Amino acid sequence: MKALITGGAGFIGSHLSEALLTAGHQVVAIDDLSTGAEANIRHLVGRPDFQFVLETITNETVMDRLVSECGIVYHLAAAVGVELIVRDPVHTIETNVLGTSAVLRIANRYRRKVILASTSEIYGKSNAVPFREDGDGVMGPTTRSRWAYANSKAMDEFLALAYHKQRGLPVVICRFFNTIGPRQTGRYGMVAPRFVHQALAGEPLTVYGDGQQSRCFADVLDVVGAVLKLAEHPRAVGEVFNLGSTEEITIMDLARRVIALTGSASPIVMVPYEQAYEPGFEDMHRRVPDITRAQELIGYRPRYSLDDTLRRIIVHFREN
Ligand code: UDP
Repeated sequence: MKALITGGAGFIGSHLSEALLTAGHQVVAIDDLSTGAEANIRHLVGRPDFQFVLETITNETVMDRLVSECGIVYHLAAAVGVELIVRDPVHTIETNVLGTSAVLRIANRYRRKVILASTSEIYGKSNAVPFREDGDGVMGPTTRSRWAYANSKAMDEFLALAYHKQRGLPVVICRFFNTIGPRQTGRYGMVAPRFVHQALAGEPLTVYGDGQQSRCFADVLDVVGAVLKLAEHPRAVGEVFNLGSTEEITIMDLARRVIALTGSASPIVMVPYEQAYEPGFEDMHRRVPDITRAQELIGYRPRYSLDDTLRRIIVHFREN
Protein backbone atom coordinates (compact mmCIF):
# COMPACT_ATOMS: atom_id res chain seq x y z
CA MET A 1 0.00 0.00 0.00
CA LYS A 2 1.06 3.60 -0.64
CA ALA A 3 1.18 5.70 2.54
CA LEU A 4 1.21 9.47 2.85
CA ILE A 5 3.15 10.82 5.85
CA THR A 6 2.66 14.47 6.73
CA GLY A 7 5.73 15.69 8.57
CA GLY A 8 7.65 12.87 6.87
CA ALA A 9 10.99 14.67 7.19
CA GLY A 10 10.56 15.20 10.91
CA PHE A 11 12.15 13.14 13.64
CA ILE A 12 9.33 10.60 14.11
CA GLY A 13 8.15 10.94 10.49
CA SER A 14 11.52 9.92 9.09
CA HIS A 15 11.63 6.81 11.29
CA LEU A 16 8.06 5.99 10.30
CA SER A 17 9.02 6.37 6.63
CA GLU A 18 11.82 3.85 7.11
CA ALA A 19 9.59 1.39 8.96
CA LEU A 20 6.91 1.52 6.26
CA LEU A 21 9.47 1.07 3.49
CA THR A 22 10.97 -1.90 5.35
CA ALA A 23 7.49 -3.41 5.61
CA GLY A 24 7.21 -3.19 1.82
CA HIS A 25 4.99 -0.11 1.48
CA GLN A 26 5.49 2.85 -0.81
CA VAL A 27 5.87 6.17 0.99
CA VAL A 28 5.10 9.75 0.05
CA ALA A 29 6.44 12.21 2.62
CA ILE A 30 5.20 15.80 2.65
CA ASP A 31 7.04 18.33 4.81
CA ASP A 32 7.62 22.08 4.70
CA LEU A 33 10.92 21.63 6.59
CA SER A 34 9.82 24.18 9.20
CA THR A 35 11.06 21.89 11.97
CA GLY A 36 11.84 18.79 9.90
CA ALA A 37 15.14 18.49 8.05
CA GLU A 38 16.16 17.27 4.62
CA ALA A 39 19.06 15.45 6.30
CA ASN A 40 16.55 13.17 8.08
CA ILE A 41 15.42 11.62 4.78
CA ARG A 42 18.46 12.16 2.54
CA HIS A 43 19.21 8.44 2.64
CA LEU A 44 15.72 7.65 1.34
CA VAL A 45 15.52 10.19 -1.48
CA GLY A 46 16.15 8.51 -4.84
CA ARG A 47 14.56 5.19 -3.87
CA PRO A 48 11.81 4.23 -6.32
CA ASP A 49 9.41 3.50 -3.45
CA PHE A 50 9.95 6.88 -1.73
CA GLN A 51 8.80 10.33 -2.80
CA PHE A 52 9.45 13.59 -0.99
CA VAL A 53 7.20 16.61 -1.49
CA LEU A 54 8.44 19.95 -0.13
CA GLU A 55 5.16 21.69 0.64
CA THR A 56 2.95 22.78 3.51
CA ILE A 57 -0.08 20.64 4.41
CA THR A 58 -2.35 23.66 4.16
CA ASN A 59 -1.79 23.71 0.38
CA GLU A 60 -5.06 21.96 -0.37
CA THR A 61 -4.43 21.49 -4.11
CA VAL A 62 -1.27 19.51 -3.46
CA MET A 63 -2.75 17.65 -0.49
CA ASP A 64 -5.85 16.71 -2.47
CA ARG A 65 -3.72 15.04 -5.14
CA LEU A 66 -1.44 13.28 -2.67
CA VAL A 67 -4.28 11.94 -0.51
CA SER A 68 -6.18 10.74 -3.60
CA GLU A 69 -3.09 8.76 -4.69
CA CYS A 70 -2.45 7.10 -1.30
CA GLY A 71 -4.32 4.46 0.68
CA ILE A 72 -3.67 5.78 4.18
CA VAL A 73 -2.57 9.06 5.80
CA TYR A 74 -0.20 9.24 8.77
CA HIS A 75 -0.68 12.80 10.02
CA LEU A 76 2.41 13.83 11.98
CA ALA A 77 2.95 17.38 10.71
CA ALA A 78 2.59 19.77 13.65
CA ALA A 79 4.32 22.52 15.55
CA VAL A 80 6.10 20.70 18.38
CA GLY A 81 8.55 21.53 21.15
CA VAL A 82 7.67 23.51 24.26
CA GLU A 83 10.24 26.19 23.50
CA LEU A 84 8.90 26.72 19.97
CA ILE A 85 5.33 26.84 21.29
CA VAL A 86 6.12 29.49 23.88
CA ARG A 87 8.11 31.49 21.32
CA ASP A 88 5.61 31.27 18.45
CA PRO A 89 2.07 30.51 19.62
CA VAL A 90 0.40 31.85 16.46
CA HIS A 91 2.32 29.43 14.29
CA THR A 92 1.57 26.59 16.72
CA ILE A 93 -2.17 27.11 16.84
CA GLU A 94 -2.55 27.74 13.10
CA THR A 95 -0.39 24.81 12.03
CA ASN A 96 -2.01 22.34 14.37
CA VAL A 97 -5.64 23.35 14.03
CA LEU A 98 -5.82 24.49 10.38
CA GLY A 99 -3.41 21.79 9.18
CA THR A 100 -5.31 18.93 10.81
CA SER A 101 -8.63 20.36 9.69
CA ALA A 102 -7.39 20.33 6.07
CA VAL A 103 -5.97 16.80 6.36
CA LEU A 104 -9.21 15.37 7.80
CA ARG A 105 -11.43 17.15 5.29
CA ILE A 106 -9.42 15.87 2.34
CA ALA A 107 -9.05 12.35 3.78
CA ASN A 108 -12.82 12.25 4.23
CA ARG A 109 -13.28 13.25 0.59
CA TYR A 110 -11.41 10.10 -0.51
CA ARG A 111 -12.43 7.97 2.51
CA ARG A 112 -8.80 7.36 3.54
CA LYS A 113 -7.88 6.10 6.98
CA VAL A 114 -6.06 8.73 9.11
CA ILE A 115 -3.56 7.92 11.83
CA LEU A 116 -3.34 11.07 13.96
CA ALA A 117 -0.20 11.75 15.97
CA SER A 118 -1.21 13.29 19.27
CA THR A 119 0.56 13.94 22.53
CA SER A 120 0.68 13.35 26.27
CA GLU A 121 0.32 17.14 26.64
CA ILE A 122 -3.40 16.38 26.28
CA TYR A 123 -3.42 15.36 29.97
CA GLY A 124 -2.10 18.78 30.95
CA LYS A 125 -1.54 19.23 34.69
CA SER A 126 -3.49 16.13 35.66
CA ASN A 127 -2.17 14.27 38.71
CA ALA A 128 -3.98 11.04 37.82
CA VAL A 129 -0.72 9.19 37.11
CA PRO A 130 -0.48 6.87 35.21
CA PHE A 131 -2.60 8.58 32.56
CA ARG A 132 -5.36 6.51 31.02
CA GLU A 133 -6.77 7.39 27.63
CA ASP A 134 -10.19 8.15 29.12
CA GLY A 135 -8.76 10.29 31.94
CA ASP A 136 -9.35 14.03 32.28
CA GLY A 137 -7.05 16.66 30.85
CA VAL A 138 -6.34 19.55 33.23
CA MET A 139 -5.49 22.67 31.28
CA GLY A 140 -3.95 25.90 32.47
CA PRO A 141 -5.20 29.37 31.53
CA THR A 142 -5.18 30.80 28.00
CA THR A 143 -2.77 33.50 29.19
CA ARG A 144 0.03 30.88 29.32
CA SER A 145 1.26 29.99 25.84
CA ARG A 146 2.23 26.46 26.78
CA TRP A 147 -1.41 25.43 26.96
CA ALA A 148 -1.98 26.48 23.36
CA TYR A 149 -0.21 23.33 22.27
CA ALA A 150 -2.25 20.96 24.44
CA ASN A 151 -5.46 22.66 23.43
CA SER A 152 -4.61 22.71 19.72
CA LYS A 153 -3.86 18.97 19.81
CA ALA A 154 -7.02 18.35 21.84
CA MET A 155 -8.98 20.13 19.12
CA ASP A 156 -7.27 17.87 16.54
CA GLU A 157 -8.43 14.82 18.50
CA PHE A 158 -11.96 16.18 18.85
CA LEU A 159 -12.14 16.85 15.12
CA ALA A 160 -10.76 13.42 14.17
CA LEU A 161 -13.20 11.65 16.51
CA ALA A 162 -16.03 13.82 15.19
CA TYR A 163 -15.23 12.82 11.60
CA HIS A 164 -15.27 9.22 12.73
CA LYS A 165 -18.52 9.45 14.66
CA GLN A 166 -20.46 11.63 12.30
CA ARG A 167 -19.03 10.76 8.87
CA GLY A 168 -17.68 7.25 9.47
CA LEU A 169 -14.10 8.23 8.63
CA PRO A 170 -11.64 5.61 9.94
CA VAL A 171 -9.25 7.36 12.35
CA VAL A 172 -6.78 6.10 14.95
CA ILE A 173 -5.29 8.47 17.54
CA CYS A 174 -1.82 7.80 18.96
CA ARG A 175 -0.72 9.87 21.97
CA PHE A 176 3.06 9.94 22.04
CA PHE A 177 4.82 10.34 25.41
CA ASN A 178 8.29 11.95 25.27
CA THR A 179 9.52 10.05 22.25
CA ILE A 180 13.27 10.21 21.77
CA GLY A 181 15.92 8.80 19.46
CA PRO A 182 18.50 9.68 16.83
CA ARG A 183 17.64 12.72 14.60
CA GLN A 184 15.58 14.49 17.25
CA THR A 185 16.84 18.04 17.56
CA GLY A 186 17.13 20.01 20.78
CA ARG A 187 16.46 23.25 18.91
CA TYR A 188 12.80 23.41 19.97
CA GLY A 189 13.36 22.42 23.58
CA MET A 190 13.47 18.61 23.77
CA VAL A 191 15.56 17.63 26.72
CA ALA A 192 17.30 14.41 25.62
CA PRO A 193 19.07 15.77 22.52
CA ARG A 194 19.86 18.98 24.41
CA PHE A 195 21.56 17.14 27.26
CA VAL A 196 23.51 14.86 24.89
CA HIS A 197 24.66 17.83 22.84
CA GLN A 198 25.67 19.76 25.96
CA ALA A 199 27.53 16.78 27.44
CA LEU A 200 29.48 16.10 24.24
CA ALA A 201 30.33 19.78 23.80
CA GLY A 202 31.57 20.01 27.39
CA GLU A 203 28.90 22.63 28.13
CA PRO A 204 26.80 22.70 31.34
CA LEU A 205 23.65 20.56 31.26
CA THR A 206 20.72 22.91 31.82
CA VAL A 207 18.23 21.37 34.27
CA TYR A 208 15.07 23.48 34.47
CA GLY A 209 13.26 24.02 37.77
CA ASP A 210 14.38 21.77 40.62
CA GLY A 211 14.97 18.80 38.29
CA GLN A 212 12.57 16.62 40.29
CA GLN A 213 9.95 16.60 37.52
CA SER A 214 9.86 13.18 35.89
CA ARG A 215 9.17 11.77 32.43
CA CYS A 216 9.13 8.38 30.72
CA PHE A 217 11.21 8.46 27.55
CA ALA A 218 10.11 6.14 24.76
CA ASP A 219 12.34 4.92 21.96
CA VAL A 220 11.14 6.12 18.57
CA LEU A 221 11.56 2.59 17.13
CA ASP A 222 9.19 1.15 19.73
CA VAL A 223 6.67 3.90 19.09
CA VAL A 224 6.83 3.61 15.31
CA GLY A 225 6.43 -0.18 15.48
CA ALA A 226 3.27 0.27 17.53
CA VAL A 227 1.90 2.90 15.13
CA LEU A 228 2.22 0.46 12.22
CA LYS A 229 0.38 -2.27 14.13
CA LEU A 230 -2.41 0.09 15.20
CA ALA A 231 -2.78 1.35 11.62
CA GLU A 232 -3.47 -2.22 10.49
CA HIS A 233 -5.71 -3.33 13.34
CA PRO A 234 -9.43 -3.07 12.56
CA ARG A 235 -10.37 -2.66 16.24
CA ALA A 236 -8.07 0.36 16.64
CA VAL A 237 -10.39 2.48 14.49
CA GLY A 238 -12.14 5.27 16.39
CA GLU A 239 -9.92 4.69 19.42
CA VAL A 240 -7.19 6.59 21.29
CA PHE A 241 -3.93 4.93 22.40
CA ASN A 242 -1.15 6.03 24.72
CA LEU A 243 2.24 5.07 23.32
CA GLY A 244 5.27 5.45 25.52
CA SER A 245 7.58 3.86 28.01
CA THR A 246 6.80 3.23 31.67
CA GLU A 247 10.42 3.68 32.81
CA GLU A 248 10.18 6.90 34.84
CA ILE A 249 13.16 9.15 35.54
CA THR A 250 13.59 12.62 37.00
CA ILE A 251 15.21 15.21 34.77
CA MET A 252 18.07 15.59 37.28
CA ASP A 253 18.75 11.84 37.05
CA LEU A 254 18.53 12.03 33.27
CA ALA A 255 21.26 14.68 33.30
CA ARG A 256 23.43 12.45 35.51
CA ARG A 257 22.77 9.44 33.26
CA VAL A 258 23.78 11.37 30.13
CA ILE A 259 26.98 12.57 31.82
CA ALA A 260 27.83 9.00 32.86
CA LEU A 261 27.11 7.50 29.42
CA THR A 262 29.09 10.14 27.54
CA GLY A 263 31.94 10.25 30.06
CA SER A 264 31.57 14.02 29.98
CA ALA A 265 33.14 16.44 32.47
CA SER A 266 30.21 18.86 32.05
CA PRO A 267 28.64 20.30 35.21
CA ILE A 268 24.88 20.48 35.80
CA VAL A 269 23.34 23.94 36.18
CA MET A 270 19.86 24.69 37.46
CA VAL A 271 17.88 27.18 35.39
CA PRO A 272 14.64 28.69 36.75
CA TYR A 273 11.61 28.01 34.53
CA GLU A 274 10.88 31.71 34.01
CA GLN A 275 14.35 32.13 32.57
CA ALA A 276 14.14 28.99 30.41
CA TYR A 277 10.66 29.68 29.02
CA GLU A 278 8.60 32.68 30.17
CA PRO A 279 7.36 34.18 33.44
CA GLY A 280 4.64 32.03 35.00
CA PHE A 281 5.60 28.93 32.99
CA GLU A 282 3.87 25.80 34.31
CA ASP A 283 5.55 22.40 33.99
CA MET A 284 4.13 18.93 34.56
CA HIS A 285 5.54 17.29 37.66
CA ARG A 286 5.06 13.68 36.55
CA ARG A 287 4.04 12.19 33.25
CA VAL A 288 3.57 8.42 33.03
CA PRO A 289 1.43 6.59 30.49
CA ASP A 290 -0.90 3.71 31.19
CA ILE A 291 -0.18 1.54 28.14
CA THR A 292 -2.62 -1.29 28.93
CA ARG A 293 -4.86 -0.50 26.00
CA ALA A 294 -2.11 -0.83 23.37
CA GLN A 295 -0.70 -3.82 25.24
CA GLU A 296 -4.00 -5.64 25.06
CA LEU A 297 -4.80 -4.87 21.44
CA ILE A 298 -1.43 -5.19 19.71
CA GLY A 299 0.85 -6.68 22.37
CA TYR A 300 2.73 -3.39 22.67
CA ARG A 301 5.75 -3.75 24.90
CA PRO A 302 8.70 -1.32 24.68
CA ARG A 303 11.88 -3.23 23.77
CA TYR A 304 14.49 -0.52 24.34
CA SER A 305 15.64 0.64 27.76
CA LEU A 306 16.42 4.32 28.32
CA ASP A 307 20.14 3.53 28.34
CA ASP A 308 19.89 1.72 24.97
CA THR A 309 18.19 4.73 23.46
CA LEU A 310 20.54 7.29 25.01
CA ARG A 311 23.51 5.32 23.66
CA ARG A 312 22.07 5.42 20.12
CA ILE A 313 21.45 9.17 20.45
CA ILE A 314 25.04 9.67 21.63
CA VAL A 315 26.40 7.70 18.64
CA HIS A 316 24.22 9.78 16.31
CA PHE A 317 25.54 13.05 17.75
CA ARG A 318 29.14 11.85 17.59
CA GLU A 319 28.72 10.86 13.92
CA ASN A 320 27.08 14.14 12.96
N1 UDP B 1 14.13 20.42 30.36
C1 UDP B 1 15.30 20.71 31.07
N2 UDP B 1 16.35 21.22 30.38
C2 UDP B 1 16.32 21.45 29.03
C3 UDP B 1 15.14 21.15 28.33
C4 UDP B 1 14.06 20.65 29.03
O1 UDP B 1 15.38 20.51 32.28
O2 UDP B 1 17.34 21.91 28.49
C5 UDP B 1 12.99 19.85 31.11
C6 UDP B 1 11.63 20.46 30.83
O3 UDP B 1 11.41 21.60 31.61
C7 UDP B 1 10.70 19.31 31.19
C8 UDP B 1 11.51 18.07 30.79
O4 UDP B 1 12.86 18.48 30.71
O5 UDP B 1 10.44 19.28 32.56
C9 UDP B 1 11.09 17.48 29.45
O6 UDP B 1 11.11 18.52 28.51
P1 UDP B 1 10.80 18.30 26.96
O7 UDP B 1 10.69 19.65 26.33
O8 UDP B 1 11.77 17.34 26.39
O9 UDP B 1 9.39 17.56 26.95
P2 UDP B 1 7.99 17.90 27.69
O10 UDP B 1 7.83 16.75 28.64
O11 UDP B 1 8.10 19.21 28.38
O12 UDP B 1 7.01 17.90 26.59
